[in-house]
Amino acid sequence: MGIPPESIELTRWIKPTTRRTTGQCSPHLIAKLHSPEAANQAIRDGLIIAGKQVWARRMKKEPRRCLRCQTMGSSHLAAECDQPMTCGTCGKELQTADCCEDEQVKFWCANCKSHGHTSWDCTCPKFIENSRRLEQLTQKVCTYTSLLKNLGLGSSWETHLPTNGQTTTQ
Ligand SMILES: [Zn+2]
Ligand SMILES: [Zn+2]
Ligand SMILES: [Zn+2]
Repeated sequence: MGIPPESIELTRWIKPTTRRTTGQCSPHLIAKLHSPEAANQAIRDGLIIAGKQVWARRMKKEPRRCLRCQTMGSSHLAAECDQPMTCGTCGKELQTADCCEDEQVKFWCANCKSHGHTSWDCTCPKFIENSRRLEQLTQKVCTYTSLLKNLGLGSSWETHLPTNGQTTTQ
């Protein structure tokens, strides 16, 4: 059955249509839905777009991390960071990109202040904790990725999108 078109707030293509390879028939679409119910239904039952069945999955939000001091869940950007430069891999005062540490035991996480993993490790307890908090905060936001299956590349299908299916470059 699918959800009513009006429950989709906005849609955009992850990839600009111009960069789509010929023959690609599963473009990705990000759809923001009105309500958690609509979103859950989209995930459970899929969506019908342009007469085709498509499947949706929840888009995962990741905690923000300052790329300079590595602080997780920080509200500042690297450009406005007043903390010392910290390597995300070894914790020394250098840029993560310049790091040549490759021994895992020497990795240093600036967030939980321990060795064994990097500051950008997604198994870091702090990362997991922050992700959970984000998940709770964004439960109502409902941003989903739909995988548009078997969608033809004809010129008319975009006009069949429920709302403003504008293309973007990113
Ligand atoms: Zn910072
Ligand atoms: Zn380093
Ligand atoms: Zn950690």
